[in-house]
Amino acid sequence: MIEWVLILGVLMVAIFSRRHKTLTFSGMWAAIIVGVLIALGLGIGGLVLLAVFFGSSAFWGGRESDISNREAVTEKGGERDAWQVLANGGPAALCALFVWIWPEFSLMWTSAFVGSLAAATADTWATEIGSKSRQRPFHILTRKRVSRGVSGAVTSLGIAAAFAGSFLISAIAIMLWWSSLSGAHIWLMVFTAIGFLANLVDTLVGASLQVVYRCPVCGQFTERTTHCGVPSERVKGRSFVNNDFVNVTCTLAGAFLGAIVGTRF
Ligand SMILES: [Zn+2]
Repeated sequence: MIEWVLILGVLMVAIFSRRHKTLTFSGMWAAIIVGVLIALGLGIGGLVLLAVFFGSSAFWGGRESDISNREAVTEKGGERDAWQVLANGGPAALCALFVWIWPEFSLMWTSAFVGSLAAATADTWATEIGSKSRQRPFHILTRKRVSRGVSGAVTSLGIAAAFAGSFLISAIAIMLWWSSLSGAHIWLMVFTAIGFLANLVDTLVGASLQVVYRCPVCGQFTERTTHCGVPSERVKGRSFVNNDFVNVTCTLAGAFLGAIVGTRF
């Protein structure tokens, strides 16, 4: 019974997000799949954690002016499509599914779920809040000043935001599931570190391997394969390493580290 109420809630949030242009049509379906798997595996606690990630991302998501500026550089606009949803929420949904299939390993998979969502939240907060920084970002590898929105660009504000996002998810997860555990405050630090480290992996992969194109017309460096109506030219990175690929390395790294920690409780 309770499952059906939760699934109904997932459907309502997904349809609402579609109507408010937070999700594309395919993104809505991906969000429904992610939400339903999490409802089945982890119930209301899992959905609370997903809602904190999703709601805070939408909250920090920025206004129209920020979005149009971002659209010139990044591959995709403000509406999240299925690939973006699955890159952020797919590993967490799989962990929830594994809790459902293998309840005897529920501690490990729940821990992996938390690690993955902590990573996704750290990454999203770093991107969304970091882009509001007045400080000009620097490149994580070259340490040179670069334009906003470029992969591998970091600001101190973004780094602090990654830490805060991971901390929030970890704190709620511990309140939900592990508050009676001895040394809960230690686990809070461990999970916060997991989300933060996974976000660091994301930034390093983005900085070193992510594909960068250049528009032959206006000269803009971009993640888009077309710009100004013409195909853009690849200047660095691997063509399959787009933003979704980088994001999924982040959420998989979080899940992996979470699973390791989950065997140590
Ligand atoms: Zn152009």
